[in-house]
Amino acid sequence: MARIDLVDLAHSYGGNDAAPESFALKPISMTWRQGGAYALLGPSGCGKTTLLNLISGIVTPSRGKILFDGTDITLRSTRERNIAQVFQFPVIYDTMTVGQNLAFPLKNRGVPKAEVDKRVAEIGRLLDLTADLKRKATRLTADAKQKISLGRGLVRSDVAAVLFDEPLTVIDPELKWQLRSKLKALHRELDLTMIYVTHDQTEALTFADTVVVMHDGRVVQSGTPAELFEKPAHTFVGYFIGSPGMNIIAAEVKGREARIDGHTIALSRGYDALPPGAKIEIGVRPEFVEVAAPTPGLLKAKIDRIDDLGRIRFARVRVGDVKFAARVPAGFAPSEGCVGLKFEPSNVHVYADSRLVEGAA
Ligand code: ATP
Repeated sequence: MARIDLVDLAHSYGGNDAAPESFALKPISMTWRQGGAYALLGPSGCGKTTLLNLISGIVTPSRGKILFDGTDITLRSTRERNIAQVFQFPVIYDTMTVGQNLAFPLKNRGVPKAEVDKRVAEIGRLLDLTADLKRKATRLTADAKQKISLGRGLVRSDVAAVLFDEPLTVIDPELKWQLRSKLKALHRELDLTMIYVTHDQTEALTFADTVVVMHDGRVVQSGTPAELFEKPAHTFVGYFIGSPGMNIIAAEVKGREARIDGHTIALSRGYDALPPGAKIEIGVRPEFVEVAAPTPGLLKAKIDRIDDLGRIRFARVRVGDVKFAARVPAGFAPSEGCVGLKFEPSNVHVYADSRLVEGAA
């Protein structure tokens, strides 16, 4: 396994002379630590697979460098990079047994038989495949195939990293959580650097220690699940992560106050140096806004509906034309019509042109 450094890495399928805005991957620089569990998360078309394929060597970058443990491997082939990859659609050799399928990447590299047998037995045990190792890999269900494919990705202990490209897409929803927790446990046991591409926030947040959120070819935030929830660095992260996503609304911000429709919301930090001319918004997660009786001093909103999620209820409201979600406190029965919104100042964030602004203490 290896530390991976991406240095001003960028890619355009239209060639290096294409307009910067059209690049599938806009320039990024970041370090992925050795032995880490990373998820690349974002909607379809945001550049996840492009970044994964640049790391694996399937695609050569238009610009920048990739280092593995400090060595520049940008122009090396996939094989030379020593990467294992698990794809969305597993390819299983059905003329072989399950065990032979698992052994394939090791035999391919001339690993001695005793070592192959030991490693196949270990991976078989970790994936609950021990009883199937001698079975022909025929007539398998999609999840059994993907389990073998995961095993093949994990069987080599000397790889720089294991890359997963949406590996659970074809798996039955009921079995997804089983494989997901298995993969997390495997990461703890095997001490491999793993990079997992997905558009599903639950998969990303349960698998990874660090989630790298991508939007429109850019990495907009890289952080722990708690950091992404508590302090989204970009309005897209706030909106994309969480259910319901973060409320975002245009506001005039000055000092420790935000004004919306002539109403003042207190902020816990000071914002006296906002960039002139920027689009200023505040963002607050529904968990940190509460509906209350419409008393003076609270921002007025109109209720559309209440979503009862069992442990928590969210009111879907409108502030003017802007849709908002807010927590309904236990025992509060909102009548039709107007409510007031109470904000927790320490969880109200300020954004300038969609990027988080750190206020002054
Ligand atoms: P998905 O989840 O749908 O695979 P993604 O986040 O992995 O999406 P990419 O596949 O990396 O996104 O695509 C990023 C952008 O690059 C998209 O606009 C896509 O159309 C474009 N793109 C991807 N592969 C190619 C290619 N081989 N040639 C030209 N354009 C491509």
